[in-house]
Amino acid sequence: MSTDLISQDTIVALATSSGANGAIAVIRLSGSEAIAITNAVFKGKDLLQQASHTIHFGTIRDGEEIIDEVLVSLFIGPNSYTKENVVEISTHNSKYIVERLIGLLLKKGARAARAGEFTLRAFLNGGLDLSQAEAVADLIASTSAASHQVAMQQMRGGFSNQLKKLREDLVHFASLIELELDFGEEDVEFANRDQLKSLILHIEQVIRRLISSFEQGNVLKNGVPVVIAGKPNVGKSTLLNALLNEERAIVSDIAGTTRDTIEDEINIQGITFRFIDTAGIRETLDVIEAKGVERTRDKMKQARLIIYLFDPTQDSLETAQQQITELSALNIAFVTLINKSDLLSAEQRRDFEVLTPVYISAKEQVGIEELKTELLRQVNLLHIQTDDVLVTNIRHVEALQKTEDALARVRYGIDNPVTSDFLAMDIRQALHHLGEITGSVTTDDLLENIFSKFCIGK
Ligand code: GDP
Repeated sequence: MSTDLISQDTIVALATSSGANGAIAVIRLSGSEAIAITNAVFKGKDLLQQASHTIHFGTIRDGEEIIDEVLVSLFIGPNSYTKENVVEISTHNSKYIVERLIGLLLKKGARAARAGEFTLRAFLNGGLDLSQAEAVADLIASTSAASHQVAMQQMRGGFSNQLKKLREDLVHFASLIELELDFGEEDVEFANRDQLKSLILHIEQVIRRLISSFEQGNVLKNGVPVVIAGKPNVGKSTLLNALLNEERAIVSDIAGTTRDTIEDEINIQGITFRFIDTAGIRETLDVIEAKGVERTRDKMKQARLIIYLFDPTQDSLETAQQQITELSALNIAFVTLINKSDLLSAEQRRDFEVLTPVYISAKEQVGIEELKTELLRQVNLLHIQTDDVLVTNIRHVEALQKTEDALARVRYGIDNPVTSDFLAMDIRQALHHLGEITGSVTTDDLLENIFSKFCIGK
């Protein structure tokens, strides 16, 4: 690890949102001098004499001038998030106060924190492993019950514990095999090959399950990408607006929230559905026909679910069947909706029954609940166990795949006459890639890449 990343400075940053909303702002310091630097501008008690995990009322002063009345929380290292001394100063949330206060702390010897630097320190000082640190970012970014739960599970170490156990078992075998190497010419076998093989098979199974959980994990974290397809004037925009407006109404019904609604996303039972190409829909571009097959396919391929909308007052059953055949060729789950059902007689409805559609009226907002149930059913998310360990990070998947490759080589080595040193090397490779996930193996580039995506103050 280079000295670039490990620094002894005491760092400071605003930990809360820098927006105008909210009554209180929290400024956070971390480092050996955190308490002394705060003490230099704080009037109340001598903070250097106070116990860890205590809160103190007082004023922040620049010379004789009182900047604000504040509460100071003290966490003495290693019993803190970063394992260093940490101070959190709660001030009134005024941009002016925050700037003055941070300015003062800088003058007294603190340094402005870089993006993610608090969490980086927590990682470097052993408070979190890398996958947990990444989960902190996911947790902060979570917008639905599902993404929250997956991030929380990862932050609390569910994933890490699973990997740790696998690593320990492998390390055990690696050391036995390496012991064999010490005996050189002598034909000794400390590591029981049958046991090793069954361990490898077990680990491969766990890893395969983790890799295949990525699809679900990713959907829970980022939402299900959905495309609404159908000819012009079938009611795509009307449907989209019906879904989105309902969502906005729900959100604004929650008293006291001023949360910005996320455009083009809806939340059904904690799962986010993200509509893609909504601009295209609003311009009533025909997703199926107008722009040529290639473009259509590209758009559709980004989706995990297609809502196929059909207007029975405009087209025949045969047209619908033909379009449905084209869509099924894409191998993406889709829901067939017959729109404008308000204009259909019971007899006309029966004609379309063969399509097993959901009948809706986007305009009258009829059938929307049935549609939502169908959306959930289609992506088979009703039964997702969010307390299962799910992989949500492409970096982790890549490392798991490399681990899997190395393990396959180990298994080959057991079944074929290869020497212990090759076996040992492949086990070490597998351990290396597992270690990349939790951060027991890292490079500065990797760390910079991960932590620079955090906000300042995290
Ligand atoms: P798009 O081109 O697929 O986006 O279609 P629009 O959403 O712009 O709708 C085309 C027309 O159909 C508009 O005049 C809508 O008011 C009308 N429309 C949409 N949904 C319904 C519905 O459920 N019933 C009826 N009667 N008209 C609808």
